[in-house]
This record gives sequence, C-alpha cells and structure tokens, in this order.
Amino acid sequence: REPIHIIGGGMAGSEAAWQAAQAGVPVIIHEMRPKVGTFAHRTGSFAEMVCSNSFRSDDDERNAVGLLHWEMGAAGGLIMEMARAHRLPAGGALAVDRDPFAEAVTARLRAHPLISVVEGEVTALPQEGRWIIATGPLTSTALAESIRAETGAESLAFFDAIAPIVYAESIDMSVAWLQSRYDKGETEEERTAYINCPMDKPQYEAFIDALLAADKTEFHQGETAGYFDGCLPIEVMAERGRETLRHGPMKPVGLTNAHKPQEKAYAVVQLRRDNKLGTLYNIVGFQTKMKYGAQTAVFKMIPGLENASFARLGGIHRNTFINSPTLLDDQMRLKSRPNIRFAGQVTGVEGYVESAAMGLLAGRMAAAEVKGDVLPPPPPDTAMGALITHITGGAEAKTFQPMNVNFGLFPPIDAKGGRRGRKDRYKAYTDRAKDSFTQWLAVQ
Ligand code: FAD
Repeated sequence: REPIHIIGGGMAGSEAAWQAAQAGVPVIIHEMRPKVGTFAHRTGSFAEMVCSNSFRSDDDERNAVGLLHWEMGAAGGLIMEMARAHRLPAGGALAVDRDPFAEAVTARLRAHPLISVVEGEVTALPQEGRWIIATGPLTSTALAESIRAETGAESLAFFDAIAPIVYAESIDMSVAWLQSRYDKGETEEERTAYINCPMDKPQYEAFIDALLAADKTEFHQGETAGYFDGCLPIEVMAERGRETLRHGPMKPVGLTNAHKPQEKAYAVVQLRRDNKLGTLYNIVGFQTKMKYGAQTAVFKMIPGLENASFARLGGIHRNTFINSPTLLDDQMRLKSRPNIRFAGQVTGVEGYVESAAMGLLAGRMAAAEVKGDVLPPPPPDTAMGALITHITGGAEAKTFQPMNVNFGLFPPIDAKGGRRGRKDRYKAYTDRAKDSFTQWLAVQ
C-alpha cells in the first residue's frame, strides 16, 4: 500500500501514525528532534509534553475535555492509553509522568511493523505523495515559510493573540446591549453583531488600576526570537497611558446604551460573536498576558460580565497555526493541495489532548483514503466532531484563534426545552456525544 508520510512526532503526529498503522496502512514519521530542537522541547522522544504534565479534567460526564479522553479511548487512541498507563495522582485531572509516558509512546511506535521513522527536519511542503503536517506550535522556520508561500501571508500566524471568550448565556443583557458601532451593517444581524458593556468614569478608573496591578506571565526565553510583531496585551496598552484603552478597544463612540439612552458611557467593552452558533463571544482587543486567576477577577469587574463564565481565558504565545476555516476541507486537507492534510495544534486547536484528537482523525481519514474509502468526520455533537467542525468551518475565519474543546462548540441541547441546571446540561451533552460517537465508530 501507498505509505502516509507524517511530519512531526508530537501529540498529533504520534496519534495519527498509530491510527493509520493500526488500520493496516504503512506510515513514515519525519521528526526533526533530536537533530534540530525547539525552545520548548528537551528530548528526542515522541509526544513530549513541553510544559504542564496534565491532560486536564478526566470527568467524561460533565467536562468537554474529559469527554474527549473518553472518545479517544473508545477509538483505541495510543496517547490516551499511554497517559492512563503513566497516570499520577491528581484528583479529577489526568496528570501524567511525562518522561516514561513519552518513552512508552516512542517505543510503541518504533516497534510497530508498519511504522518507520526518518530523523531530520523537513524544510519545504512536499510535492508528491500523501502527507500529514503535524509540526505543532513550534513548526520549524523553513517549513513555516514554505507553508506561508502556499497559503498566503495572512493565513499563517506565528503568535496567537487570544482574547477571552465568554459563554453568551452568562452575559447580563439587562446591563449589556446588542449594537454594532454606528449601527453599521446591511442586515439587522450585522447591525446587532456586538454585545456592549458600558462603564462610567469610576468603573473605568478602577478597571485600569486592576489591570496595572494584576499578576502577569512572561514570555519564555527564546519565545519571541525573530517574530513578535507587537500585538499588544491590554495591560501594556494601559501602562502606556490611562486613557489609551478608552481611545482604543474601549472607545465609547458610535454606541448608545439601549437601557439608558440619555447616558453617555465613559468607556465601552465590546464582545464579538465567536462562532456561527452564537453561543460564544470574545472580548474585542483583550489579548493579555495576565495570569488566569487575575483575568477572571479583572474581567468580572466589567458591567454585564459580573457572572460571566469563560470558555477560554486570554493569552499570547508563540504558536504557528493556519487559518483552517478558509484553507482546509472537512477532511482536514489543504483545499489547494488535497494530498496534504494538517493535524494538531497547527490547525488551530489548542492543547495536548485536542491536538492528539485531531491527529487521531487525520490518521484515520488518511488511512481510509489509501484504502479507497472516505471517512466522514464525527458528528458535531461529539467532542471530536465539535472541534473539527469548528476549525474547518464553524469558526469565524477573520478572527480565527486557537481553541480548546468546550461545550460552547456543541450544538445547544436546550433549544426547545426549558433551562436545566448546568451540571445536568453537561451530562446531557456527554450522553448525547457518547451515543453519536459510538455510532460513528460502528460504521467504519
Ligand atoms: P507538538 O507536540 O509540538 O509536535 C510537533 C512535532 O513536530 C515536534 O516533535 C517537532 O519537533 C516536530 N517538527 C516541527 N517542525 C518540523 C519539521 N520541519 N520537520 C520535522 N519535524 C518537525 N498544551 C497543553 O495542553 N498544556 C500546556 O501546559 C502547554 N504548554 C505549552 C507551552 C509552550 C511553551 C508551548 C509552545 C506549547 C504548549 N502547549 C501546551 C501546547 C502543546 O505544545 C500542544 O498543544 C501540543 O504539543 C501540540 O501537539 P502537536 O502534535 O500539534 O505539536
């Protein structure tokens, strides 16, 4: 059979290789480490966990990442099997003994009769053959430049600039209101595309004080080398002058408070729709290096967000990723070069588990293709299906930023029925997902 070439033996590449080989298709993994390193990796092992040693919540009943663990286990995932085999006690989280875990993944892959490994950096997008690019957030410079030449400069980012994302249902709409600045837009939907949260002067001053005082994280050594092009965190804008934000992302012009039309807001925080379902909103221009605890405290000072729940908090990291919603089809193939698939964090998912899950799908899809079949993506009400749907079309392409799995990506479950308690609702999401995923697996 025709082999599948995989560039990158990280979380995604390792899982993709395993899935394809288990399906009976030969695989060649091209991995640059240990010959060529990155600022974050330390070893030559596959599936190295570069930072935290946690796969996050293992609760498959009420947590979206726990559900992803369950789906990967059900699909015979190598990463999940090895993570469980090297589990460390950590309450409800799946913490992993990182070196034995990575060594075990490496040993399993190297021992597989259908898998071979070529050491060394791949420096350009290959022309011939069937490939999966799984080179991750620290894709080597030469390959990134080659991807950029194929996709266009606008379609490949070297840093993420993640503004916090809020569940729409947790925003207090008796304080906030829907309106686009200057009511711009052709349709009613466009004229009401933003959620606006007003601040008076004392609220604004207190907010700036809190931003300036908040705990921040620093860039890792080497992280910004040669790249960072100044996508400023909000706290840095605040440091440049107390009025900077009020003349930048928090400017109040062109907006009228629907609840108090006579009162002119001193500043306005805007939230923009983040997915087609309308369940998630990002806070416009609020990329930040504040620590997570500080972010929650500071953002809850915004009128209307006092009880906000966050689908993800903000951040800025070195992170190579493509604009998947415009570039990839629903098989994760590059539309312009369908012999090339992308998988893992480079597709705009975020985290070890999500990256491995996208590797699992890419490996299965590529193997099906070699055998002359087409594997449809899992349904969007599963965790894997919600993620692949998000990156290949559900997300807004213009503001696309890396995403963790979360229930906001799933089709809402309470469309008709009344509101259930949050815990019951999450259980309903996971029950529905497990049924769907089981059926999807059964037809392969
Ligand atoms: P990786 O696991 O990075 O694997 C990519 C592989 O491709 C690497 O082995 C690399 O050596 C190889 N490669 C790159 N370019 C080439 C090339 N041209 N030729 C051949 N091989 C190549 N996620 C979390 O869940 N928790 C965290 O705490 C966390 N912290 C992070 C901290 C940092 C500093 C960084 C950079 C990322 C962090 N992440 C974290 C994200 C995490 O690294 C990814 O989610 C996950 O590893 C992505 O899997 P991947 O397979 O897509 O990429």
